[in-house]
Amino acid sequence: MPAGTPRWGSGWKKAAARYYNRSINIRAHGAVQSYRGNYLDLDPTYRDAYGLPLLRMTFDFRDNEYKMSDFLTGKCQEIAKAIGPAKMNVNRRTGKYNIVPYQSTHNTGGVVMGKDPATSAVNRYLQSWDVPNVFAIGASAFPQNGGYNPTGTVGALTYWALDAIKNRYLKRPGLIDA
Ligand SMILES: Cc1cc2nc3c(=O)[nH]c(=O)nc-3n(C[C@H](O)[C@H](O)[C@H](O)COP(=O)(O)OP(=O)(O)OC[C@H]3O[C@@H](n4cnc5c(N)ncnc54)[C@H](O)[C@@H]3O)c2cc1C
Repeated sequence: MPAGTPRWGSGWKKAAARYYNRSINIRAHGAVQSYRGNYLDLDPTYRDAYGLPLLRMTFDFRDNEYKMSDFLTGKCQEIAKAIGPAKMNVNRRTGKYNIVPYQSTHNTGGVVMGKDPATSAVNRYLQSWDVPNVFAIGASAFPQNGGYNPTGTVGALTYWALDAIKNRYLKRPGLIDA
């Protein structure tokens, strides 16, 4: 709703009814690179009902993400202007990453796949480098979030891993060669 719209009471209700079918949001999604300083670990302080440590997320945006966001917001602004709106609000991304505003629910990573056991948990077949009879299937394998819906890729990775289990691992148990 336009700036200055009352945020409660009958003024808000009137504005909500007027603008519900007369407004649109234009959003842009970006990807965050897989920085070494962004990671998940076990929380040293907080525990669950069973006394087990909770998962702790250490994460923030860097210059690249702010610049990309700025660029995309500018493009969205151009698109919105071309539509010729009566009013327009632009929300630029500023400040540190904050879990409170809605961020989409595409949580990925934690058991990342890679070529090197020193920097990844599973190989390209989602097979644990350390324990070859363990395959970790899911969005946990993503080294970074591509900024787009993850489920298609999770499905493709699942078929890929199952094919390797059936046609390679079961015939010759152990680490599957690249
Ligand atoms: C509201 C919402 C809307 C979404 N919309 C979309 C969309 O439109 N498009 C899209 O592509 N993606 C969407 N996603 C994201 C998508 O659902 C997830 O990325 C996807 O489900 C991840 O799959 P996964 O197998 O990695 O994890 P999950 O589906 O979360 O599976 C993890 C499993 O592990 C189990 N588990 C956890 N801890 C333990 C434990 N200690 N022991 C045993 N089991 C355990 C959990 O019960 C769960 O079954 C949405 C997500 C949400 C929440």
